[in-house]
Amino acid sequence: MMNFELLGLSKPVLRAIAELGFESPTPIQEQAIPVMLGGNQDVVALAQTGTGKTAAFGLPLIDLIDFNQRHTQALILAPTRELCMQITRDLQNFSKHMGGAHVVAIYGGASIEGQIREMRKGPQIVAATPGRLVDMIERGVVDLTRIEFVVLDEADEMLTMGFKDDLDLILSQTPDEKNTWLFSATMPSEVQRIAKNYMNNPHEVTVGQRNSGNENIEHLYYVVHAKDRYLALKRIADYNPDIFAIVFCRTKAETQQVADALIKDGYNADALHGDLSQAQRDFVMKRYRSRSLQMLVATDVAARGIDVNDVTHVINYNLPDEIESYTHRSGRTARAGKTGVSIAIIHSKELHKIREIEKIIKRKFTQAQIPTGFDVCEQQLMALVKRIHNVEVDEKTVERYLPQVFEELAELSREDIIKRFVSIEFNRFAEYYRNAPDLNHNAQRDDRRALAPGVVKLYMNIGGIDGFDFNTIKEFVSENAEIAIADITWTDIKNTFSLIEVKNEAVDKIMEAIHGAQYRGRTVRVESRGNRDAGIPRTRFRGDKRQGGGGGGGYHKGKGKEGGFDRKKSYGDRDGGFNKKRKK
Ligand code: AMP
Repeated sequence: MMNFELLGLSKPVLRAIAELGFESPTPIQEQAIPVMLGGNQDVVALAQTGTGKTAAFGLPLIDLIDFNQRHTQALILAPTRELCMQITRDLQNFSKHMGGAHVVAIYGGASIEGQIREMRKGPQIVAATPGRLVDMIERGVVDLTRIEFVVLDEADEMLTMGFKDDLDLILSQTPDEKNTWLFSATMPSEVQRIAKNYMNNPHEVTVGQRNSGNENIEHLYYVVHAKDRYLALKRIADYNPDIFAIVFCRTKAETQQVADALIKDGYNADALHGDLSQAQRDFVMKRYRSRSLQMLVATDVAARGIDVNDVTHVINYNLPDEIESYTHRSGRTARAGKTGVSIAIIHSKELHKIREIEKIIKRKFTQAQIPTGFDVCEQQLMALVKRIHNVEVDEKTVERYLPQVFEELAELSREDIIKRFVSIEFNRFAEYYRNAPDLNHNAQRDDRRALAPGVVKLYMNIGGIDGFDFNTIKEFVSENAEIAIADITWTDIKNTFSLIEVKNEAVDKIMEAIHGAQYRGRTVRVESRGNRDAGIPRTRFRGDKRQGGGGGGGYHKGKGKEGGFDRKKSYGDRDGGFNKKRKK
């Protein structure tokens, strides 16, 4: 196994990380540290939070700084106050055995005077949020002229948060000869621009695939009716008695509502969003960190930089508007080599978003079923039994009460006693879930509805009894409507009808050639099916003349009789089987 010694780190740093319990480097550390220790190389690293990226830049930085000097040599920029404080704490730990090391955090939402005083002491390393740093530069209390290393942490986040101008200003004030190390979970064009403008021939380090999610995260989705979202959330929580989750909502209002509802329903939950004061947010985070809260309900912005380990579930109560944010959300679980589950609760029309996310994270989601009332009760009961089994009995204290207790319960058999103890806790759940409905939306049907963009689903009242199979129907449509076979992307043949998916451009030709035409003495109907999400104007299918008074209604009854379609490859006029509509 790779160890830290082989990466070239100094003794005091090795001692510090040994004390932190780091045994071997994470993949990003293994790749980045030797390159960075070289001291003369720009680096772009694609890495999510939780991969050990702070140590990946922090450890070599500590070894490259001259702690005998009392001026700022390294600047780390990060999007949030929480992340700045975390980085500062980590770097203080890493440099513990380096005499004279001084690391300072500079961030908004706290008194600037204290931070100015800290800056006057000449810290060698400063971790800052861009906004506050610009403020300090303008007041003339920060000197960037002797900066040798700049680290841009969570660069994509800084840009989405609107720090672009601040970054430009800060970077333009640092010396040209510095080294820049950029860390980002994703590589949107804005981040690439920064890399291009401010970095020289950067060395690229990637853990896993570009933009791919952490391998240790399992991605699940549940399909429910929109109105059942909250009930689904509760079921997921109840099914996982040891859940330690972050629940992401789309708006501050929704965040507060969901948290309030959970609190009212007896869960250890609270809200984290931008309408809370800094003190309130700190308080919530403190309770979450100490696990007094099991569920933290948060907006994307408020949850940025949350560095809590052991989060078991990330729950997308609503998917983010910006699909890319999913990566950041799910990265809050499965940190430091642990595993975790990232869940999306969606309604049937959101399946296409799941497919889009799959493309971004290059991982597949598994569709899961919302646990039934029975499943939840079973899970809770077993958790309770485990607790009873493992509880520590304080013999001394309980001893003096026991004779009385034994006497009281003397009549009951062992089985009865067990049943009653279990029921005390369990009845609440059993009662709540007695007649619990199945919350799963019938997803089989919905999966079909998730059409690819630019594709339309059509129904035709000709099918298996007419001798068609999924291939011959394609040929039939393609030949008669004069469209390419490849324009038909999918077919499904039922006995009396067929469904086909075709490229948008082909629809008019099909309607023109086939809808209303006669097939073996019957009027063929072509209709739009399940295209509500595909942006197909319904009007195209309205006002179609239904020749023959509503088509094959009567025909279905004659099932079998006309089943003699001879599967000729040619469906043209030759065999008299199909008469195209006359072109006007
Ligand atoms: P980060 O990606 O920097 O937020 O780090 C995620 C977590 O992993 C932090 O709690 C680190 O303390 C921890 N960590 C970083 N590197 C290692 C390592 N080599 N071994 C064990 N834990 C680590």
